[in-house]
Amino acid sequence: MSSDRMKITVTVIKADVGGIGGHTRPSDGLLNAVRNIVRPQMVRNGKGLLIDSYIGYCGDDIHIVMTHTRGVDNREIHQLAWRSFEAATQVAKNEGLYGAGQDLLKDSFSGNVKGMGPGVAEMTFEERPNEAFTIYAADKTEPGAFNYPFYRMFVDTLSNTGLIVNQNLSSGVKINVMDVEKGKIAQLQMWQDKPTLEAALLYPGRYVVSSVYTRDNQPILAASTDRLHNIAGKYVGKDDPICIIRTQKDFPATEEVGAAFNNPHLVAGNTRGSHHVPLMPVKLNSPASINYAIPIVSALVFSMHNGKLVGPVDGFASADWDYIRQIAVERTIAIRSQGFVHPATLVPSELEYAEGYRARMNVLWSKMRPIPNSKDHQFHHPKQQQRPQNNQRPPQQPNVSKPNPQTQKPVVPQKPVDISPIKPVKRAKKPHQTKTSTTQTTETKKPQYSESK
Ligand code: MG
Ligand code: MG
Repeated sequence: MSSDRMKITVTVIKADVGGIGGHTRPSDGLLNAVRNIVRPQMVRNGKGLLIDSYIGYCGDDIHIVMTHTRGVDNREIHQLAWRSFEAATQVAKNEGLYGAGQDLLKDSFSGNVKGMGPGVAEMTFEERPNEAFTIYAADKTEPGAFNYPFYRMFVDTLSNTGLIVNQNLSSGVKINVMDVEKGKIAQLQMWQDKPTLEAALLYPGRYVVSSVYTRDNQPILAASTDRLHNIAGKYVGKDDPICIIRTQKDFPATEEVGAAFNNPHLVAGNTRGSHHVPLMPVKLNSPASINYAIPIVSALVFSMHNGKLVGPVDGFASADWDYIRQIAVERTIAIRSQGFVHPATLVPSELEYAEGYRARMNVLWSKMRPIPNSKDHQFHHPKQQQRPQNNQRPPQQPNVSKPNPQTQKPVVPQKPVDISPIKPVKRAKKPHQTKTSTTQTTETKKPQYSESK
């Protein structure tokens, strides 16, 4: 790439700071409060932080798209978004909106919104003459909801012919996968790491794609990855994800990326963030559904030149997506028909972030008694040797390796069989509080809403 091209950073920061009558959508007052803080920062006469901006929402999450030349993790840019959401929170409180300020988990800004509640996706790149990218904003779900569509875009040749016929893509992309429980990241190179990637992506509650690069390190994708319960230490809502995906030329076509959302797959989320429901593509600035809060995703298709945005085109507005929405609703009714029975609900370890579930299970555990005639609750195999009283291992026969006269190969010493009783798996008393960010220096606010998204 020639170096005379402009280096632009696209930053999108989103937060839920209140909804009308529940977790539906922000009010016009909230959106205006954000606009009133962001718009004066557009560069005029050499002053201002932003080249361009766009403000919209998906369900109850407001997203602020910003273009600038200050790079990723820039304090001023992040602070601008934080101040906007604080102003909107004040409006939400004045209007009596539900969940006012729910995603602002810290009392004061500490340099970067990562780890403070709002979600952020951003990337810096040399702008192409006809730069094209799409932002996917989702609500009522979690970052792992994108695992399946991302896989279809960058790995699945049955979904994306571009992976075969595009020279750059066919050489395999680099996919960074984050462990959101442990706060670690692994770079996987396609195609040699394909099965390893698949092993990670099968568990979207823990392993999520944070970024994708071409083999020659051009950034293609950046996604938000924070999990709110890791920040707050308890369940305070699903961290509705957002991502930026560059398209065309060396990258997947805009349509190859969009089509990855045409098979509404089951994701974690919806009402109380406790169920598995299909991810439904919706039009821009759609309120969340009050039909059990079906997880939704919208597509903001942009062009950009010298950091100036044109768009967004509403990626999921065309007639064909009405058919996909119908599939999503049919699948929703199908899985909802089995009510609370897993897998309609999340696995217990995920539900345990919700206080009410833990309280209910504590009652169950308090009623638990040993099973009559079963010693120490432990299952004993008839052939299992009884361990001596002093809990010492029985003496082992000396296990000497000696050559086998038939094969001349040494006999591999057998590992002594562990006959210790099966121990019950230890339950973590508290949810993981591992930080996915290094910037959490301020006090965590006590979350006010336990059933919200
Ligand atoms: Mg909400
Ligand atoms: Mg939301």
